[in-house]
Amino acid sequence: MAEVPRISVPCIPISGSELQFPVRRIYCVGRNYADHAREMGGDPQRELPFFFSKPADAVVPSGWRLPYPVRTSDLHHEVELVVGLHKGGANIHAADASSLIYGYAVGIDLTRRDLQAEAKKAGRPWDMAKGFDHSAPIGALTRGLPPASGSISLTVDGNVRQRGDLKDMIWSVAEVIAALSTFVELAPGDLIFTGTPAGVGAIRRGETVRGMIVGTEPIEIIFEP
Ligand code: MN
Repeated sequence: MAEVPRISVPCIPISGSELQFPVRRIYCVGRNYADHAREMGGDPQRELPFFFSKPADAVVPSGWRLPYPVRTSDLHHEVELVVGLHKGGANIHAADASSLIYGYAVGIDLTRRDLQAEAKKAGRPWDMAKGFDHSAPIGALTRGLPPASGSISLTVDGNVRQRGDLKDMIWSVAEVIAALSTFVELAPGDLIFTGTPAGVGAIRRGETVRGMIVGTEPIEIIFEP
């Protein structure tokens, strides 16, 4: 008889520590910056935050070389502030939400945009567009609360593609946590990608993608030629 498989919990590094942050679930919020909502054809005024998820083992640490993903010819970058939780709960009030946060990092919500466009058109799930292997590169977590304002940006081969400010989020990190906790009970180890500013675009084979947020370590990923 075959042996029961052994699996390990995915982890991400913590800045200035030998410890690793164990990843339980990865949640992502869609359209949380007005300029990006507009570039995707939405109306930033009317839309409540909506959520999707990625598998925990989609995390990739900075410095990795990745194969260009399969089943796409339109891989997009979305640079995002990510928070990691050390406490959980359901129906959290926004005023209490920051007490759940262990730290923050910069992540890239890699998206197979062609598959997402097909899914939207057909009214199908986004999982294969958003939750594929290596779809969640994330830098080391900085302990403490994320800044409410400051630069968030992304370069491809050194050219600036996305540049925004954390203060331009439609829903604050606390409001995102509060809203998400009405759908699911949050728990220690959860990561939340909080949305991307405008400028999303394609990554080509051989390119180097670098995401940056003030106060935390960058994430840099190199795609194989
Ligand atoms: Mn995103």
